[in-house]
Amino acid sequence: MSAPILPGATIGILGSGQLGRMLAQSARRMGYRVHTLSPGADTPTGQIADHEVIADYDDLSAIEAFARAVDVVTFEFENVAFAATECAAQYAPVRPGGRVLHTTQNRLREKQALSDAGIPTAPYRAVHQADELAAAVAAIGTPAVLKTAGFGYDGKGQTRIEADTDLAQAWASIGGGPAVLEGFVDFAAELSVVAARGLDGQMSDFGVIENRHAQHILDVSIADMPLEPAQIALARSIAQAVMAHLDVVGVLCIEFFLTQQGELMVNELAPRPHNSGHLTIEACPSSQFDQQLRAVCGLPLGATQRQAPVAMVNLLGEHWQEHTPNWPAALDDPQVNLHLYGKAEPRNGRKMGHITAFGQDREDAARRALAARSALSNG
Ligand code: AMP
Repeated sequence: MSAPILPGATIGILGSGQLGRMLAQSARRMGYRVHTLSPGADTPTGQIADHEVIADYDDLSAIEAFARAVDVVTFEFENVAFAATECAAQYAPVRPGGRVLHTTQNRLREKQALSDAGIPTAPYRAVHQADELAAAVAAIGTPAVLKTAGFGYDGKGQTRIEADTDLAQAWASIGGGPAVLEGFVDFAAELSVVAARGLDGQMSDFGVIENRHAQHILDVSIADMPLEPAQIALARSIAQAVMAHLDVVGVLCIEFFLTQQGELMVNELAPRPHNSGHLTIEACPSSQFDQQLRAVCGLPLGATQRQAPVAMVNLLGEHWQEHTPNWPAALDDPQVNLHLYGKAEPRNGRKMGHITAFGQDREDAARRALAARSALSNG
């Protein structure tokens, strides 16, 4: 096994959003230097990094120069081209490997990998072109969800199909194929497991996190979902199986549906720290970002047990609409912590920050986090 990458070395992050920012914060705290590459300037990650490279992800000479200047390359953004990770890998280790990215950045490849590993998903069919859609709808039934195979997130590039949906219109609305048609899951709840796997295969996770979405975007996450012990064990073992199957080094998030019958189905994978794991920053000895850093540097993983009931709510651009958010009002509850990502422009649906709150129990934590968010609009 290769030697660990020690504090003082430089972490290269492809992508420059809030996930890279929080990874950079962990890295700086542990004495690493950080470089980031993306097409943007003064980015959430760049504000924390030692060095911000402004280049397109397909500018392979920029990727080469970037990789030559760092000790390990990781990514915080899934849609980095596979060619960029292949190029970077010639000059520095890329963790997780580009193959993991290649699999998870396309829903069809991801579903195939899950099926190969024997892991349950919603029933699905591949739809490569418009004239295949009707047969796929006949096979899956309605309601169903049509999703682009690549470059979709937070519900973008997907549309619901009912018995009377105009299929040509639905196809056009997602921008054409290749796509995947999934059976609509009438889920009782959504949950995630954020897990880490070290260079030596050591694995660890943060338990089961309950996720509540609004408009297809994560709204509230609450740690330690009270499921049956067997369901918790199954969700965690699926996370381990997926990480081992894909040979992940780093953090991987698995999002699940819990069906009305109590079954778990994997919705999607993200080979990086995840929005639902932000609460680990305050709640766990080693956060998801600390684990990512330790894993990609070949260091032992840290402890992940939660210290107190905790919940997180996202802050989207709409909270800035009326006036500057009332930060003192939100922080009036001493159990509340505020994270802002340094984004200048508060657009609708844009993740600008999040609030984490501790409570007496999980619902109290969620209530405090939501109350703090509501207090932002107190005039
Ligand atoms: P995704 O981008 O695939 O994670 O989808 C975003 C959200 O859309 C999910 O968190 C669900 O709330 C909803 N969704 C996606 N796929 C399905 C499905 N097959 N059945 C029901 N809801 C879905």
